[in-house]
Amino acid sequence: MARYSIWVLEYCYNDHYPVSAMIYGAHNQGIGMIPNCYVVVKGEGHVAMVDVGFNNKDFAKEIADSFGVAGWQSPETVMAEVGLSPKDVDTALITHAHFDHFGNVEDFPKATFYIQEREITKWVWAMSLPDRLRWMMVAIDPGDIIRGVDLARQKRLVCVNGSLENVLPNIDLHVAYDSHTYGSMWVHVRNDGKAQSSDAWALAGDLVYVFENIEGPGAVVDVDQMYVPVGLAVGSQENLVMATEAMMKSVGYEARRVIAVHEERLKDRFPSRITADGLRISEICLGDGEKSRVR
Ligand SMILES: [Zn+2]
Repeated sequence: MARYSIWVLEYCYNDHYPVSAMIYGAHNQGIGMIPNCYVVVKGEGHVAMVDVGFNNKDFAKEIADSFGVAGWQSPETVMAEVGLSPKDVDTALITHAHFDHFGNVEDFPKATFYIQEREITKWVWAMSLPDRLRWMMVAIDPGDIIRGVDLARQKRLVCVNGSLENVLPNIDLHVAYDSHTYGSMWVHVRNDGKAQSSDAWALAGDLVYVFENIEGPGAVVDVDQMYVPVGLAVGSQENLVMATEAMMKSVGYEARRVIAVHEERLKDRFPSRITADGLRISEICLGDGEKSRVR
C-alpha cells in the first residue's frame, strides 16, 4: 500500500540564478533558470507542506526581484490545481529558513510548523552581527525570522533538535547541520510504512538543487558518479556531500527518489503538467485511492 501522495508545485521561477550557487565550482556556467516550488504530502488524514514559499511583498519581493523571480502565484491559486487549499494544511515541515522556503507562514493559518532549533536561533544570531558580515544573510528575509519567533509565541512552532521519527506516521525529519544553512532538514517519506522502506522518498529541500548534485557533471542515473555539492552553503560542502549520501542511503541509492525542488527537469522524470499560469505540477507518487492531478 502507498500511504501518501506527493506533489511538487511550482509557484514562481528565477530566470537568472547563478549556476555556481546550484553546483559547486560551476563558475564558468553563467546563469540558469530554476523553478521555486513547495511540496504537498497528503495522506493518513493529513495535508502537509514541505516548505511554504514566499509571499511576494515587502522585502521578500525585493529579494525576489534581485534574483529575477517571475510568474509568482499565491498558494490559494497553486494548491487549487491539486484540489486543495492552504487552509487544509495541518503540518508544515520547513527544510530551512531561506525566503523562498519559509516566507509565507501567514497563508497557512491552521498549520503547526516544524523547523530545526539551530536553524531559527542561528539566524537570530546572524541578524545581530555587524553589516560587514551580512553575506551570511543572503536569501534570508529578517521578517520571516521574526514571524517564525511569533509562531513560537503562539505555540505553533516546534523546534526540532536533530532527527525526529514519525513526525507524521511514517514520515521522519533528518538534519544536516552547517550545510546549505545552519540547520537544514530533509524529509523521509516511508510510503510502504517500513523502516527499511523500498517505497521511500527523500524530499531534499536545498541540500540538492539539481540532478548534477547527485549524479555528477554528466547528470546520468549512475550511482558510481560522484556527488557534486550545492554551491551556496553557510556551512560546508563536506556536510552537503554527507547529507546527499544519507538521503541516497535512505532510498536504497535510487537517485530518482531524492526529490530536488529547484530541478526544472523533474517534469521529465515524473508525470507532470503545466498550468494555465505556466507553472509546473509534478506528481511524485499517488496514495491508494487518490486520483492523478496531472492526467
Ligand atoms: Zn536555500
